Amino acid sequence: MDLAAADRAHLWHPFTQQRGWCAEEPLIVESAEGTDLIGVDGRRYIDGVSSLWCNVHGHRHPRIDAAVREQLDRVAHSTMLGLSHPSAIELARRLVEVAPHGLTRVFYSDSGSTATEIALKMAFQYWRQAGEDRTTFVCLRDAYHGDTIGSVSAGGIDLFHSLYRPLLFPTLKAEPGDLGEMERLLAGHAGEVAAVVLEPLVQGAAGMLVHPEGYLRGVRELCDRHDVLLIADEVATGFGRTGRMFACEHEGVTPDLMCVAKGITGGYLPLAATLTSERVYEGFLGEFEELRTFFHGHTYTGNPLACAAALATLDVFEEERTLDALQAKIELLGELLEPLAAHPGVEEVRRRGFMTGIQLRTAPPELRMGHRVTLEARRRGAIVRPLGDVVVLMPPLSISTADLERLVEITFASVDAATAAEALQQAA
Ligand SMILES: *Cc1c(COP(=O)(O)O)cnc(C)c1O
Repeated sequence: MDLAAADRAHLWHPFTQQRGWCAEEPLIVESAEGTDLIGVDGRRYIDGVSSLWCNVHGHRHPRIDAAVREQLDRVAHSTMLGLSHPSAIELARRLVEVAPHGLTRVFYSDSGSTATEIALKMAFQYWRQAGEDRTTFVCLRDAYHGDTIGSVSAGGIDLFHSLYRPLLFPTLKAEPGDLGEMERLLAGHAGEVAAVVLEPLVQGAAGMLVHPEGYLRGVRELCDRHDVLLIADEVATGFGRTGRMFACEHEGVTPDLMCVAKGITGGYLPLAATLTSERVYEGFLGEFEELRTFFHGHTYTGNPLACAAALATLDVFEEERTLDALQAKIELLGELLEPLAAHPGVEEVRRRGFMTGIQLRTAPPELRMGHRVTLEARRRGAIVRPLGDVVVLMPPLSISTADLERLVEITFASVDAATAAEALQQAA
């Protein structure tokens, strides 16, 4: 079968203008090993964005592979609606163990979008059942919480979100990093706000926008003062990406609800969880006829194969002391990026831990500079993916220092090539 032809004939790719896609040669990944993706043509590429921010310990990790196979020999899927299973139970216990202190309950779903959707519905229903009609949320500008209508309502990236505005519920938007504005919004809308929703420390899809130190802790304090719930969307930041297991740990913050997905299974299978405090959980307890039930649940919620992969992912964090080994690599990445930050084609490099955004110098959008860098990098053996004119680097935590060096070298050469080609084009 001509795979490229069949792809063009039948597939519709996410976040993709298909006309442009069909005009290019697709890279079709057949297999992977460690930090490398391997194309059908046998070429190897460093997975510079962890297969969209989710791979943690590398591809085909023997420990995770074995855990999924063992689970497969027991059962691939049963349901969490009315039944339970050992892997989901054990994983809930383990997640509570590693999560910020005070998060004690785990509600499963299967994507980051559903995890935030669930957090929003829970926060709304919590206040309803507490006898308060709190129908709005404070969100940050340029936020990204997923692509379902609720999570888009909490989002603030105009390029993705503005078209859908007629379908969305209104939310209050705060400037990231500005505690004064947060305070004014919470004071000005007392009794209306169910929760503040934010990506702690780093707004990923905004292009790795890093918050000033103390901002997260400040928002937590404001939420306490105004008795508003705090929802931390750790979908991108969770599972080591910022250098700690969860970004909230950097500022000693426990949110009331915490959303995790992406890295939870080590990047193996779709799984997500919304963790809550006991206070939120207890707000839903009552007699059956009181209808305080959380009426929400997806068919594949808490899928056993995914839970097995997640358990093994946590095991590997312990066995390989991943977070300890990561600290030197974070430091090295900082050093390696210095020449890139000084490159004339680069405006700024933003980074927290392994989450890196290389902001290219402003160019006309139709030049698609970020995309050009991606194609140049692919030619040189690395997969990176841009967010507009921001080139993202977010390799698996398990990447070797040699591969980390090679990834940044390739990125530098690719920025060089793409900006030189642009200069030629502009001059012509
Ligand atoms: C990716 C992401 C989501 C959405 O997760 P999906 O699994 O793609 O639905 C939500 N929040 C943040 C912060 C993300 O980075």
